[in-house]
Amino acid sequence: MTKLTFERPIIQRINAGLPSKYGMSHKLEPISYIDGVSIKSLLESSGSPLFVISEPTIRKTFKAAHRAFSSRYPKVQFAWSYKTNYLSAVCNIFHQEGAWAEVVSGFEYDKALANGVPGDLIVFNGPDKSRKDLLKAINNGSLIHIDHFDELYEIISLTKETEIRPKVAIRVNMNTGIYPQWDRFGFNYENGEAWDALNRIMASKKLDLLGLHTHIGTYIMTTEAYKIAASKLAELAVRIEKKYGHALQYLDLGGGFASKNTLRGAYYPGTDTTPSFDDYADAITSALMSSEIKPDQLPLLILENGRALIDEAGYLAGTVIANKRLADGRRATIIDAGVNVLFTAFWYDHDIRPVEPVSEQSEDTTIYGPLCMNIDVIRGNVMFPLLKKGDHYVIRRVGAYNNTQWLQFISMRPNVVLLDSQGKAHLIRKSETLETINSQELMPPHLEKFEL
Ligand SMILES: *Cc1c(COP(=O)(O)O)cnc(C)c1O
Repeated sequence: MTKLTFERPIIQRINAGLPSKYGMSHKLEPISYIDGVSIKSLLESSGSPLFVISEPTIRKTFKAAHRAFSSRYPKVQFAWSYKTNYLSAVCNIFHQEGAWAEVVSGFEYDKALANGVPGDLIVFNGPDKSRKDLLKAINNGSLIHIDHFDELYEIISLTKETEIRPKVAIRVNMNTGIYPQWDRFGFNYENGEAWDALNRIMASKKLDLLGLHTHIGTYIMTTEAYKIAASKLAELAVRIEKKYGHALQYLDLGGGFASKNTLRGAYYPGTDTTPSFDDYADAITSALMSSEIKPDQLPLLILENGRALIDEAGYLAGTVIANKRLADGRRATIIDAGVNVLFTAFWYDHDIRPVEPVSEQSEDTTIYGPLCMNIDVIRGNVMFPLLKKGDHYVIRRVGAYNNTQWLQFISMRPNVVLLDSQGKAHLIRKSETLETINSQELMPPHLEKFEL
């Protein structure tokens, strides 16, 4: 038997007051394996810190989401939100599962094409589509979701340059009862702007109006908001049918379902408070089915979820660098992954666990990243056991937005490995090196040399 490590005794104040009936245990169960693969061995072979993505979890989550909708509605299509995680291996898992691509920039559009997605199965969103991007999208028969009048007029003017009729939808923003209202994208429903845009499209006779789109926000905890959004889109579709005899082919309800992460400062964990795919699907499909749209004209339902489909599959594992005491006596644990690679630490109280079995005793701890910056806080306040220098940790549910929003800052972005269904680890993105960074830089001749 190995000798137990010494831990300094701590005195904890007991907080009086009513305990929650859901009282949560402070003991954090270690997570030593991902899909049966030892995290310690992954860190040894692929370096620390390390992003680990579980392919079986992605497939399982996607299938559950798809089932929730397709069991309630006749025609359902998912389009993978590239900006949520556009590592090509990740995108291709979703494409293998049948998802189209949903992109919000020329760069993402090209990435989807390069991954092999046919142009006519790309949904092109976002406020910034250049004239060149738009022409390419028109010629490829992509679904262009118009964001503002300037874009609408640009597309109409582009019809002089190509024989192909643009396939378009408009993005609609609306009051769905949630705060803050996302009204900076698309055309507003309540003030009549969306209806105005639709009339201009129909009057131009140059564009094929295929659908309507909305994306009401992100991490939306209330399914009622989706019910309202679906009803309002359906209402617009019915008005177009009535006025022009034109039936729309699809309604796109966007993304925004919450993942199981816990928002910063939330009282209960996200696993207990966020709606299930079935809850969201119920709200959206019942609104469509009970709308005035004729049953034989029910449009294809497109969904563009990102966060809720990938968060669960991503892990960030790494190593403890040091422990210290803050001036007020609180414990600080410094780990080797900072907010530059875990952007979502600003949003979430991420679930961080020890990898190896540790002491039963927890203490109020602040977990810092390795950056030389005061804001590099992974967890501001968490009851955490003592992990010593060299011990390992793992952070759960980091699959969404981190591998796209990460910054090369002070240190390099780490390796990303994908665990396939056999538990085999594939390197899907290499860590950067000094050469990667320097290869993008140029040195003016007069600055090449110096003497000190
Ligand atoms: C970001 C985005 C999504 C995905 O949002 P999630 O909250 O990750 O589900 C879908 N559609 C559009 C237009 C987006 O900008």
